[in-house]
Amino acid sequence: MDYVGRFAPSPSGPLHFGSLVAALGSYFQAKSQHGTWLVRMEDLDPPREMPGAADLILKTLEAYHLFWDGEVVYQSQRHPIYQSQIEEWLTQQEAYYCQCTRKQIKADGGYYLGHCRDKHLQAEGCAVRIKVDTPITEFYDLKHGRIAIPQAIAEEDFIIKRRDGLYAYNLAVVIDDIEQGVTEIVRGADLIEPTGRQIGLYNTLGKTPIQYLHLPLAVTENGAKLSKQNHAEGISLDNPIPTLLEAMRFLGFSLPKGMNTAKIDEIIAWGIEQWHLTQLPEATQITTLFSNRVS
Ligand code: GLU
Ligand code: ZN
Repeated sequence: MDYVGRFAPSPSGPLHFGSLVAALGSYFQAKSQHGTWLVRMEDLDPPREMPGAADLILKTLEAYHLFWDGEVVYQSQRHPIYQSQIEEWLTQQEAYYCQCTRKQIKADGGYYLGHCRDKHLQAEGCAVRIKVDTPITEFYDLKHGRIAIPQAIAEEDFIIKRRDGLYAYNLAVVIDDIEQGVTEIVRGADLIEPTGRQIGLYNTLGKTPIQYLHLPLAVTENGAKLSKQNHAEGISLDNPIPTLLEAMRFLGFSLPKGMNTAKIDEIIAWGIEQWHLTQLPEATQITTLFSNRVS
């Protein structure tokens, strides 16, 4: 089977060091196998998005010579597809409306325990949850091997459409990865936890789950994921090489001397050639000071 990989940023801010690591890791993994590398814009949550971020992310990828194959897919343009899948599940009683508030769930111990499963509620003011009858309690990761998912998370009937009408990440990501023919997902280790839910949706849809590789996550000194909230800076567009090399070191490359004077396309080509999974650090989180560095 031909390899199809993807990078799926959420345009909540500019591309920062942590997202560059995910972009590069997925790119090298795809291109080292002569595969296709897609970019999908996960613009599902307008209140958390920054105007102009989607275009800025694409410009940044180009500045780093990470050229994607085919057209960029925007999740904001795919609502009818998500909605029709939800309606099909509602009709088949594989999904149901739920009116529980966050507060109620918290009072139940932090996990939703199936309160609305058999209530046959109407749409008004409700979220939609998928019935999880076969919890996925572990999966195989290409770097980390078997990864266990806590039972309470695995068993939860999770939200596929929010009460405010927004489609849930887990739903959109699976529908799109299937439709785009993605064969392997390479992304940050912050997304290990929802992987079981996503595999569950593959099963519900009668599809064979695909391969997963979770890359070490760049975190701040306090252990927080780099993000807009902790002021992770957008990375430089005019002087990409130092940041590119730093991200490659983060991914476990030992760079030969003189790499910093090479051209960017030479560096990328070298990376494709040298990339192998054993180089990747075992840790799922690595502290980086890079986000605060002024370039
Ligand atoms: N859009 C998600 C994010 O930026 C990543 C989705 C994925 O790679 O599965 O965190
Ligand atoms: Zn409920």
